[in-house]
Amino acid sequence: CGIFGLYGPGLDVARLTYYGLFALQHRGQESAGIAVSTGGGIEVYKGMGLVAEVFNQTILKKLQGNLAIGHVRYSTTGASSLANAQPLVARVRQGMIAVAHNGNLTNAFYLRQKLSAEGSVFQTTTDSEVILNLLARNQKCSLSEALLKCIEEIRGAYSLVIMTEDQLIGVRDPFGVRPLCLGKLGEAWVLASESCALDAIGATFIRDLKPGEILIIDSQGIFSLYAPHPPRSAHCIFEFIYFARPDSIIDGENVYLVRRELGRNLARECRVEADLVIPVPDSGVAAAGGYAEVTGIPLVEGLIKNRYAGRTFIQPTQEMRDLGVRLKLNPIRPLLQGKRVIIIDDSLVRGTTSRRIVQMLRGAGVKEVHLLIASPPVFHPCYYGIDTSAYGELIASRFPVDKITAFVGADTLYYLSLKGMLTALREGMTSYCTACFTGVYPIPLAQPQEATKYR
Ligand code: 5GP
Ligand code: SF4
Ligand code: MG
Repeated sequence: CGIFGLYGPGLDVARLTYYGLFALQHRGQESAGIAVSTGGGIEVYKGMGLVAEVFNQTILKKLQGNLAIGHVRYSTTGASSLANAQPLVARVRQGMIAVAHNGNLTNAFYLRQKLSAEGSVFQTTTDSEVILNLLARNQKCSLSEALLKCIEEIRGAYSLVIMTEDQLIGVRDPFGVRPLCLGKLGEAWVLASESCALDAIGATFIRDLKPGEILIIDSQGIFSLYAPHPPRSAHCIFEFIYFARPDSIIDGENVYLVRRELGRNLARECRVEADLVIPVPDSGVAAAGGYAEVTGIPLVEGLIKNRYAGRTFIQPTQEMRDLGVRLKLNPIRPLLQGKRVIIIDDSLVRGTTSRRIVQMLRGAGVKEVHLLIASPPVFHPCYYGIDTSAYGELIASRFPVDKITAFVGADTLYYLSLKGMLTALREGMTSYCTACFTGVYPIPLAQPQEATKYR
């Protein structure tokens, strides 16, 4: 998911939040929502679909206020439905509160049962509502104290933007799994999942929130509280590989440059005799550039992507799935005929997309297809908010590389090594979560079976 918040008295906060969400669209395409604080309460508008489909001028004009938060959703917990769209809004003793969440709690199932037994009412099937109910329960203390208590109870990955009638609050979980950064636009303060959303509205990047930070913004300015430190950080490495936008800077690293370095490392590890390097657009473009740079093999755009095809194309049937890749990608035949090609993608998760791409290239008359992946095999599921599937769907957890090579139909299949991935980043293994590659889960899973069932 993508989250955005703006403390901007005097500004058109809903419109700026709309632009911010538009820049974060890649982080979720299922639903979008904006909540504004009107001074006398909070108003929210949510809908299913893309930001530009959900909002129009009339709706944005009605959302007037001094501060706003917004959310674009991609579901990992709870069904894809309007009831589960965010921001979630509730009335608590001190007034109204709105919450937008990116990440996934690992003990949501347990907390939900506990809270329900104690009388809390749930209106959605998301883990995010657990946070709202925990905050609502601790009404005797201030919101920042309630947040500290909430952080003690919830486990997992969460970046949050929270809005009361007069405060904007940003929270990053103690491991810093999901990104969240702070920016400034004149006198106004901005929070966003990625810095590309700050750029989009002309705001200046100030800094990333620190793991465990609770940053409170109001008429007094900004101040921070910190939850107790765990022994390490665990920034999601998959944000750099696939999820984030290449123009974003996350925890001090430009995503594009990391991806390009992943491609260079791929070239240092795996040389193949070939005529052309072809990226799988868009996710393999940066790595393919790095690979071509080191090897000197010409980089060509042999696959053209329909720029109107979304990142997650709704594909309910096998027939539509097969059609899906044709609607999205098309090879440039005259360029490829009789050639030995290296195709580069950022990751291989289920193997089904790669298989269709290899078939498509063979259909276009290529002589050899060498598939090089700019990350290691995805062996394990993610419980922290990225939908890399359950064990059964992860092809690397079921088959050895030679079987996968045969399945996708490539002449060569090579995955970047773990070391090759980690050395593309300045910080080492201890700063990042690499669980989907290594099985080392930095945040304990309360009930792994429940987590699987609940996804
Ligand atoms: P596969 O061959 O595993 O079916 O598909 C690999 C492609 O899926 C890669 O191009 C990669 O960019 C993309 N991908 C990786 N992770 C995710 C994810 O979490 N969600 C979606 N929709 N695509 C992903
Ligand atoms: Fe990111 Fe993988 Fe860790 Fe999930 S398991 S948070 S996708 S690195
Ligand atoms: Mg891709």
